[in-house]
Amino acid sequence: MSGGENTRAVHTPAAPVPAQTPLGLPVYRTAAFSFSTAQEYAEVLGGERPGYSYSRVDNPTADAFAAAVAALEGAGLDGEVVGQPFASGMAAISTVLLSLTSSGAHVVAPRQIYGGTYALLTTVLARFGVQTTFVDGTDLEAVRSAVRPETTVIYAETLANPTMSVADLPGLAALAREAGATSVVDSTFASPAVCRPLEHGIDLVVHSATKYLGGHSDATGGVAVASPKLMAAVRHDRIDLGGILAPDEAFLLHRGLATLPLRVERHCSSALVVASGLLEHPGVQRVDHPGLPTHRDHALATKLFDAGRYGAIVTATPRGGREAGMALCDRLRLVGIATSLGGTHSVVGHIGSTTHRQLSDEALAGADIDPGAVRISVGLEDPEDILADLVQALDSL
Ligand SMILES: *Cc1c(COP(=O)(O)O)cnc(C)c1O
Repeated sequence: MSGGENTRAVHTPAAPVPAQTPLGLPVYRTAAFSFSTAQEYAEVLGGERPGYSYSRVDNPTADAFAAAVAALEGAGLDGEVVGQPFASGMAAISTVLLSLTSSGAHVVAPRQIYGGTYALLTTVLARFGVQTTFVDGTDLEAVRSAVRPETTVIYAETLANPTMSVADLPGLAALAREAGATSVVDSTFASPAVCRPLEHGIDLVVHSATKYLGGHSDATGGVAVASPKLMAAVRHDRIDLGGILAPDEAFLLHRGLATLPLRVERHCSSALVVASGLLEHPGVQRVDHPGLPTHRDHALATKLFDAGRYGAIVTATPRGGREAGMALCDRLRLVGIATSLGGTHSVVGHIGSTTHRQLSDEALAGADIDPGAVRISVGLEDPEDILADLVQALDSL
């Protein structure tokens, strides 16, 4: 390129386009793509020709991540499964719910639901005339009775925080089909290395990729997967709502996926060690983990989940109420106090003062949560070290 100094500084030689496929995922850190002709620009924008135009619309790195998750979630299916990338789990959930509802529509959702999703349904969607009925999501009859002619979404979480109840995915899928509604499942706590809801008839799966999919607590993202038909509508609204995944985050999340099965297998086996160990401690009054035969949904989890994998969140209730729960967190040396979950590091949080802080002790009891309960995300440290840390903290109470 000829021209002055500034022109040459801007118009550098084009980066080589390799004929070989890179082993690592290239990061397309670009906001826009250029075209050879005005006609090509018009056709790509009009959807008449495949191609990239603008990274809020589509980005190759973000697409690669969404396609990888779709391949994992849709592994056992005959039909095609595709994914859409989002800037966060809430970007995925809000776009999906907005795309499946309009003013006057109705949603059936579980009472035990992620706080951000609860807020979205009760504030944002309610403001636009979408009503939600919250029911005991583990009670199929309660879900059935809540369905109305205008119900467009039956929503669930594979594993629900904090009691780790397990959604009856085939039952909910059948109810949604009967009602002519779309079944949507947040499978963040399970990940496709534990359970793939589409295999059980669920229509659409959403994830906070920030958790197990990325797995290293260093990137925020979300993803939705479903049939091409459902995802076409979701993509359309994603473009207008603007919540696409950024290329750098897509790279990190995609890299995390390569070790997802290895990590999750270890997360799950360690969680079983921690849950069983805590159950034996005299200072513990209750442990909620679906891998324990004492958990109410153990049989359902065994049926729906991959062998030996029950997720890696353990909810433990020490004797001594709220104070004991908070003191337990403070006395831990290895396990950190932090929000989020699904990363390499084991972390703990006192439920009543954090994720469920809006609930009084009575309301907590109504939700089957003890004021002292703590949620442990079991990380990738040696399981005996995680358990030993919890035991020394309990012994000191
Ligand atoms: C974290 C989380 C979300 C929200 O995801 P973000 O990436 O934080 O937006 C949604 N659902 C569940 C179950 C979660 O744990």
